Amino acid sequence: MIDFTALAQKYDTPLYVYDFDAMQVQYEALKTAFKGRKSMVAYAIKANSNLSVIKHFATLGAGADCVSIGEVRRALRAGIASYKIIFSGVGKRDDEIREALESNILYINVESDGELERVEQIAAIVGTVARISIRVNPNIDPKTHPYISTGLHDNKFGVDINSAKRMYLRAKNSEYLDPVGIHFHIGSQLTELEPIREAAVIVADLVRSLQTVNIDLKFFDIGGGLGIRYRDEATISPYDYAQAILSTLTALELTVICEPGRFLTANAGYFLTRVLYEKVNEQKRFVIVDGAMNDLLRPSLYGAYHYIEAVGKPDGEGTPADVVGPVCESGDFLAKDYVLAPLKHQDLLVVHSAGAYGFGMGSNYNTRGRSAEVAVTQGKDRLIRSRESFEDLIALETPYLKS
Ligand SMILES: *Cc1c(COP(=O)(O)O)cnc(C)c1O
Repeated sequence: MIDFTALAQKYDTPLYVYDFDAMQVQYEALKTAFKGRKSMVAYAIKANSNLSVIKHFATLGAGADCVSIGEVRRALRAGIASYKIIFSGVGKRDDEIREALESNILYINVESDGELERVEQIAAIVGTVARISIRVNPNIDPKTHPYISTGLHDNKFGVDINSAKRMYLRAKNSEYLDPVGIHFHIGSQLTELEPIREAAVIVADLVRSLQTVNIDLKFFDIGGGLGIRYRDEATISPYDYAQAILSTLTALELTVICEPGRFLTANAGYFLTRVLYEKVNEQKRFVIVDGAMNDLLRPSLYGAYHYIEAVGKPDGEGTPADVVGPVCESGDFLAKDYVLAPLKHQDLLVVHSAGAYGFGMGSNYNTRGRSAEVAVTQGKDRLIRSRESFEDLIALETPYLKS
């Protein structure tokens, strides 16, 4: 058990706390599920890009899935070997492609014809052969929130099966492109297995059809998206997930790569915030806290639910309240109509499942410094990112301040 009260006292609030042991349990569960098959767990850095978090996964043997050159640099800085790094994303700048090629990463996930052409041209300039994979959009409804669904045709990600085939042929015939993998990622927070299996069937069939034209891929990249329990969702077990994927790969000698983000870090993270005051308007109860949408955006952005623990208070007893922050937006809330015991100044709330898409989606809106981040490993806590000071926030503006 993590002593949240002690951590809030030591590091102040708002604060992110990550249980590194819980992250390891998740990593190992997934890695073990693919036992017997060549596989790599490539941590999706965008879920939580703190260098110490990435380093923790690097130590466990993970690779990295990156969606900007900044994330590639983070992965390298944190000690992930270049040959375990994948660069994904629908829009890559020329300089990002160039640096990825010069860094000799495992492959670039290509998402359009235009990108394939840029990668080829830049590889020619650099004088290298670009290892690529193509992100296929299998047009499967993942049955998740529309904002985090990515595998349908009305969505900006990936290319359809026929375009992919044409692009693979083109890559095969280019002296600067080496098609080594195939990739799909149908959405995030997936809690149903069937759409994943259907997508894998479609993509595995494409792999077989490419073999008939002598394109032999090595990597079958199934993306991320494995859902977690925020409230009472039924989730997919790593074992069932792996079995569903592997069942579609009979007679294919492919290394399976998965790119989990949320699954590895979400439930290992907690967001700590203190109550400033309670306020009652007409019939409505507000609990005003020192954490806000600039710290944890998911409730505002997706209407996401997070379990909130009021430390030292009875759980599930009390009256409904909106838990809101100090930011000047009506959309600034951490919970709506959430049943909480009566609270007073300085009471501590712990927002659970905050380890993924928490700190990373943070901003400095309202000139609020971002929270500090703390890691807990085997009962020992350590700071892994300092709280931002006012001076940090204005550092890039002050050189231009005219007297
Ligand atoms: C966001 C993303 C992931 C990780 O998604 P999770 O839902 O956090 O597992 C993996 N791969 C790609 C290409 C992504 O864009």
